[in-house]
Amino acid sequence: MFWRKRPSAPLEPSNPAARPGDASADLDEALEGAAGILRARARHAFCVGHEDAASIATTLERWASHVLVRSPPPGVSRDDATDPRARDWRGLVEYVGGQARREQEWVHGSVRDMREAIFTLVETLGRSSGAQGRHDALLRRRLTTLNGAVESGSVDALKREALAVAAAVTAVMEEQRLLAERQAKELEERLHVLTEQLEQTRREGETDPLTKVANRRIFDVSLVRALAVASAVRRPLTLLMVDVDHFKRVNDEHGHPAGDKVLCAVADGLARAFPRRSDLVARYGGEEFAIILADSGDQDAESLAARCLGAVRGLRIEVGLRVIAVTASVGVAVARPGESASELVARADRALYDAKRRGRDRFIHAVTPAESRAA
Ligand code: GH3
Ligand code: MG
Ligand code: MG
Repeated sequence: MFWRKRPSAPLEPSNPAARPGDASADLDEALEGAAGILRARARHAFCVGHEDAASIATTLERWASHVLVRSPPPGVSRDDATDPRARDWRGLVEYVGGQARREQEWVHGSVRDMREAIFTLVETLGRSSGAQGRHDALLRRRLTTLNGAVESGSVDALKREALAVAAAVTAVMEEQRLLAERQAKELEERLHVLTEQLEQTRREGETDPLTKVANRRIFDVSLVRALAVASAVRRPLTLLMVDVDHFKRVNDEHGHPAGDKVLCAVADGLARAFPRRSDLVARYGGEEFAIILADSGDQDAESLAARCLGAVRGLRIEVGLRVIAVTASVGVAVARPGESASELVARADRALYDAKRRGRDRFIHAVTPAESRAA
């Protein structure tokens, strides 16, 4: 019988023996044809709006069964059927017609939505792509063509142009990424140069231009800070004031440039003699140097002063064919509790002049006023 056939089988006359014009055979053919159409639609059902493809396919299958074997139509149970033997042709026509209308609306709506989305894309890309790159001009041309495709309504053209725009957008993005990378690199290089210049300016602001050790300004600031730290952590601090002996003679006998060279060699020798990061060798003025020695107290002060004298004594400064040797005198002062920077400097200075007075090339360990009164 025709209702036992597989619904996907090609339509054939259900009764090959029936003669053309046989009304019963024609009816069978018609019923089978109608069911075949419904099942074909069920096989190719697609989601329409909120109704998914599977639910539409089930409904169509139920209509096909209803047409073939008079099972209840969709939405009607066997008990509710008014006449189980009657076919609900009106209901079927309404359902199929309604479904066709819903499909049409959905397809039109989707195409309209897509056109609007592409319009928005074209507009947005057109506005946002302001760069002057090579690919940017290409993108603008592509957008114009895509705009034309949207207007034409040709889905093929739309697809082709949308893909071309996607490729152009990728190219623009790559171009802009490379540009941004290049700009970032340039910026980084300029920043590096600027930082170097700043660092150099800072160094120049802190160092004595002739001898390249710390200048007087840095010495003044550093001594105040070092004293505050020493007092806070209860650690000692020693100050050496160093003056090159008879330096005027060096200038007089060898000339000012030779004197400059000697000053540079003395500064260098002192810096080498006190290499700790916490030590500070500074040019105090003229041929006078000051050395701050953190964490060094009465026990070390004299050996450090001796090291300082040795560093100057050991210098042999070549000027032309001549070799100059110099000595220095040193005033040593170990900071006392509550002593200010100027008081400490004054004490070290007095000791220095004491060393000069006592014959030079020596150090004198400063005493506090109270110590000197007691002595
Ligand atoms: P003393 O042993 O008593 O310290 O004698 P001195 O000759 O070293 O001291 P004095 O103060 O009489 O002379 C210091 C000289 O240092 C005078 C000054 O011209 C010279 N001087 C100061 N600064 C510089 C400088 O930057 N370069 C040179 N070449 N000489 C300088
Ligand atoms: Mg002097
Ligand atoms: Mg001197």
